[in-house]
Amino acid sequence: MSKVLIVRWCEIHLKGKNRGFFEKLLYDNIKHAIKDINCNLVRIPGRYLIENLSDLDVETCILKLKAVSGIHSVSLATCIETSVENVKKVALDVCKDKVGTFKVETKRADKKFEIQSTDFSRMIGAEILKSNKNLSVDVHSPNFTLYIDIRENNKTHVFTNTIKMMGGMPVGSSGKGMVMLSGGIDSPVASYMMAKRGMKLEAVHFHSYPYTGELAKQKVIELAKIISNYSQGLTLHIVKFTEIQEAIHEKLPEEYMITMMRRFMMRISERLANKQGAGAIITGECLGQVASQTVESITSSQNAVNVLPVLRPLIGFDKLEIIDIATNIGTYETSVLPYEDCCTVFLPKYPVIKPKLEKVEYFETLLNVEGLIENALNNTEVIKL
Ligand code: ATP
Ligand code: MG
Repeated sequence: MSKVLIVRWCEIHLKGKNRGFFEKLLYDNIKHAIKDINCNLVRIPGRYLIENLSDLDVETCILKLKAVSGIHSVSLATCIETSVENVKKVALDVCKDKVGTFKVETKRADKKFEIQSTDFSRMIGAEILKSNKNLSVDVHSPNFTLYIDIRENNKTHVFTNTIKMMGGMPVGSSGKGMVMLSGGIDSPVASYMMAKRGMKLEAVHFHSYPYTGELAKQKVIELAKIISNYSQGLTLHIVKFTEIQEAIHEKLPEEYMITMMRRFMMRISERLANKQGAGAIITGECLGQVASQTVESITSSQNAVNVLPVLRPLIGFDKLEIIDIATNIGTYETSVLPYEDCCTVFLPKYPVIKPKLEKVEYFETLLNVEGLIENALNNTEVIKL
């Protein structure tokens, strides 16, 4: 008898011929996430098992797995050699201190096991009722379910608890994206959403030293570190944006400040994406949240991108829904630290809500767009997390 952690995957069963690729990728991602824990990761039909895990490491291991996209759920199970006697013994032991209602659910991957699933559930259920007078059966909404999973290799897993995990697809299965990471609440959540769909990530942050300070930069590095747990590592490009902001501030109408900044940010992000082999730009934009996120503003920033798609996973979310996710993934507390982002430097009192594309394009003829972009790209710091 031993303890094992059963790890179930999401959606991989939908992937016909590529299934092997997805299974291997998820295997490698799990292996990487739990590399500091002493245990064995094995693949059995339809799932993975983590064996030889010390009791002390179970919680840490589950916590690490929570950040691995592609995992549907995990269960801590007792693993025994398949036999009626063994299952009975474990079932009675698992249920001995329980009170309330229960049911038993048996799955027979091993059809050689002689008793049919429903009969076996009934038989074990009857034994439990006999040994624990504080329990009664409720097959519709029991307080707990005892699962008996009879596997092919003469092993049976018995468990009562299933913990829901991140879901999604394994990181690395959906290409790479360049996320525009500010110090705010939204873009870390957008990063998480795309990692969850299997994207590898790199991030770009624009800062305006000395208008924004060292602490603002550290905050973004901290956010990037948290995201890197979900994205299997992250490279952060920190671009000095000061010269661009000063040029816009000096030469162009105040109300167009943010609109023009966004276009520069998009262009630089696309160049970095191309250089790093990323196939998409990701932002934390959310429709209507602020003046720079109206359809017209989005049109204006989108227009600065040549080819790549701009993915906006939060476009239809409410702020409270975003905050909920930020809290769950552990970025919220850092995001709300009160350091300035470059967008608040030279912030216009009344930013334009419906920028006009013709105007925006005309304004850019008044700047040395190419030279400013080149300079900014040459003033980029790269941090691998
Ligand atoms: P966030 O909470 O992500 O900062 P926000 O609600 O403050 O978003 P905006 O400031 O309008 O919204 O920014 C919209 C998006 O533009 C951000 O989600 C982010 O993807 C990108 N962005 C804004 N500022 C920066 C920055 N300094 N560096 C990199 N990307 C940025
Ligand atoms: Mg912001």
